[in-house]
Amino acid sequence: MRGRNKPIDQIKIAKERIVILFDQAEKAAESKKKGSADRYVEMARKIGMRYNVRIPSNLRRKFCRKCKRFLYKNLSADIKEEKGFLKITCINCGKKMQYRKE
Ligand SMILES: [Zn+2]
Repeated sequence: MRGRNKPIDQIKIAKERIVILFDQAEKAAESKKKGSADRYVEMARKIGMRYNVRIPSNLRRKFCRKCKRFLYKNLSADIKEEKGFLKITCINCGKKMQYRKE
């Protein structure tokens, strides 16, 4: 026994950490800590890249596709609901995104 996690465990842990980091980003954004929220997203993306884990689609829509900043209503994003779609504009870079509302 070398005491190392099996790759499958590492992937499971990586996925859990990504979810936790997005949760922390959400809380930081709630307290208007924009910079902290962006750092949590960056950490989550790095974990995803290192372990080759895709960020779940429900979390991917929480950050800008272009500049990767955390998107939060009235803080870093302009979010409108229209005909079952969420229309999101990143306040930082102006990128427009559209998602079907869940
Ligand atoms: Zn952006």
